[in-house]
Amino acid sequence: MTSKTQDDDKEVPVAGVIGWPIGHSRSPLIHNFWLRKSGLKGSYVPIAIPPEALEEEVNRLKQQGFSGFNVTIPHKEAIFALVDEKDEAATAIGAVNTVALKSDGTLRGLNTDGLGFIENISSTKTNWKTGTACVIGAGGAARAIVYGLAKAGAPRIEVFNRTEERAQNLVADFQDLGTEVVALPMKTLSERMKDASLLVNTTSLGMTGEPPLDLDLTALSQDALVTDIVYVPLETALLKSARERGNEVVDGLGMLIHQARFAFKAWFDVMPEASREVRDLLVVDLEKSK
Ligand code: NAP
Repeated sequence: MTSKTQDDDKEVPVAGVIGWPIGHSRSPLIHNFWLRKSGLKGSYVPIAIPPEALEEEVNRLKQQGFSGFNVTIPHKEAIFALVDEKDEAATAIGAVNTVALKSDGTLRGLNTDGLGFIENISSTKTNWKTGTACVIGAGGAARAIVYGLAKAGAPRIEVFNRTEERAQNLVADFQDLGTEVVALPMKTLSERMKDASLLVNTTSLGMTGEPPLDLDLTALSQDALVTDIVYVPLETALLKSARERGNEVVDGLGMLIHQARFAFKAWFDVMPEASREVRDLLVVDLEKSK
């Protein structure tokens, strides 16, 4: 008979991330670092679940004593129907990126992407709300970001997307948050930038292997904050040209770290720090996988 050691406790999965595929996820690096740093037992594991097995596998996780799990592509919308309750953000965004297992065995779905985005930009520059927020893209991430911006008090949000109808559908869902949210044609973006205090790319353009996001920044005020949620590479062509003309820039890695902080807090009731150490860990990993 073998007795249980402290090292065994460290290895017991207590949280994880579900997706298909899942090998690319950097969430285990972040959460395992914070678990060790907080002196908590257990590990955070990647869990590959094909779409057809989602319900069965989620039921299995419920039996395994998990505190909760993150949800990534392609399950963020499908998990919506499997949770027992949702927070306001998940309901408004229409997607869940974090599930917490409550003590009564029910599942609470949260969406921490919008909050993570806001924390990331606000920790760099606090006066990003003085003008318009120009949001490029209308996919899942854009929904979380528009919600986050509106809740954080952005005075006006303009959404530009290749497929204009998708931008119109997005803005229709965010008309009741006390912020003016409009969809505008992509071709007007270079001109509309003149009123922006924040410019954000939420598309996959600029990511390694994708075409760059080619924008004329001439009309953009040098006081505007420019941010990209793509973080591979860390400095996208958009961020490079914005930085070179004197704008403050924020890369996408901080959003990944900050959305994770809110998930960790929901599971373990500890708010971890977005420290230099955790960022460096991710930067080293990104360098390795180049
Ligand atoms: P998504 O739902 O598939 O949306 C993709 C968006 O990119 C849409 O607006 C799409 O426009 C646009 N797009 C794609 N290819 C394009 C092209 N060739 N030209 C113009 N527009 C194009 O994806 P998502 O979940 O929103 O994710 C978007 C990006 O954000 C990904 O790179 C993802 O890795 C990153 N992300 C980062 C974080 C973070 O924590 N930093 C969090 C979430 C996502 P159409 O509607 O016209 O197709």
